[in-house]
Amino acid sequence: MYSAYLDLNPARALSVRTLGSASRRIYFSPVAPLRVRHMPPPPLPDGRWVRVRNILAGLALDEVERTITSMASGLAPTAAPQPRRIYLGREVVGEIMEVGPEARFLRVGDRVVYQSGPCCATREIEPPCRHCAMGVYALCENRYLPGPEQVGGGWGDEMVVHERQLFLVPDGMQAEQAALLEPTAAALHAALRHPLRVDDQALILGAETHGLLITQALRVLAPMLNITVAPEQSYQVEVATRMGATRILYPEDGVAAVARMTGAKLYRGQIGAELLVGGFDVVYDTLGTERSLRQALSWAREGGVVVLAARSLQWMRMDLSAIWNREVALVGAYTHGAESWPGGDDNFSIGGSTGGRVSTFALATEMLREERLTPERLVTHRFPLREIKTAITTVRDRAEHRAIKTLLDIQDIPGFDLLDESEEPTTGPEPRGG
Ligand SMILES: [Zn+2]
Repeated sequence: MYSAYLDLNPARALSVRTLGSASRRIYFSPVAPLRVRHMPPPPLPDGRWVRVRNILAGLALDEVERTITSMASGLAPTAAPQPRRIYLGREVVGEIMEVGPEARFLRVGDRVVYQSGPCCATREIEPPCRHCAMGVYALCENRYLPGPEQVGGGWGDEMVVHERQLFLVPDGMQAEQAALLEPTAAALHAALRHPLRVDDQALILGAETHGLLITQALRVLAPMLNITVAPEQSYQVEVATRMGATRILYPEDGVAAVARMTGAKLYRGQIGAELLVGGFDVVYDTLGTERSLRQALSWAREGGVVVLAARSLQWMRMDLSAIWNREVALVGAYTHGAESWPGGDDNFSIGGSTGGRVSTFALATEMLREERLTPERLVTHRFPLREIKTAITTVRDRAEHRAIKTLLDIQDIPGFDLLDESEEPTTGPEPRGG
């Protein structure tokens, strides 16, 4: 099997950190964390594990960024015990090619998408932790406990995972839709993190895939909502409008345009200080940079909400006075799980009984089926697996390529343009590091 992964050896991260600014080719060099290797397929580690033949995968922006920028040292998530390898490609649809003897939910030939990493269900822990009991596997309190590790991810031809890490795709869903079910569910979860009122004014900072899918999800959830999108690139304007933006806040527009749009009052003080009285009811920061979060906090109205819907890998230093001075609430949105939903019927792929809640994947699947969410329309580029390097470069240089969503076609025999074609010496996952 072929698979792309990040080798978390600190020396590799350091080499990219120190040399990356001098030459961008370092990301693909033999000393970089990104590895694409041929390895013997490992056996299924336990009775409920399955082997998946991948069909189509998406390149998530944060995964590409992690291959380029390692997480800032000392940031809390770096303390989590992690396998020494992080297999890349969580946006993936595939077909079950082998099931363990105790598999209960899946059969050979089933079409599945990757849903989650380790949690109580995949560790077979009973009773599940408080979050898994509510279907919120992303916050599982047992997710770092030792156990068998998955081998392979979407950026490769096969993966070996626990059956509860997967979501069964209904018949009739196109491969593109299925491959993009994960980012669609993530956007839906972010959109549902704050209850909306019909006359709310929402602002979305960033119009990459995540921002665009949140725009569409908000449009579905609140058809009359006034949605302003702030793209960073001019080529994103048209697609943002197509996905449901009412208005565009252009990069050259600043706080004065925000004041004009929302009817807020702007006060200017010394050394560049600016204070807005009024602003947006809710701001979704899908970029997670120091600049975007600063804007989000200062452009939300008194008592408004900022949803940080981005995986930021960097330390931030900024003015947080809006949180106490204007009672702006800052909430996070991380992947997906379960949502409060009228008529929620415990339709969980993962998790226990959770009255009135429904799995985000199930909800997203329904909205895809009804064509209210259309992530497949964001696909601008598609590469065969053997051109993974070009695919990563296209995402990295997306402004130049006017790329929105890039996919990897897996049904293709890799042969060249891989980073390292040597045989992998080990047959299974490496021991967990500290
Ligand atoms: Zn749990």
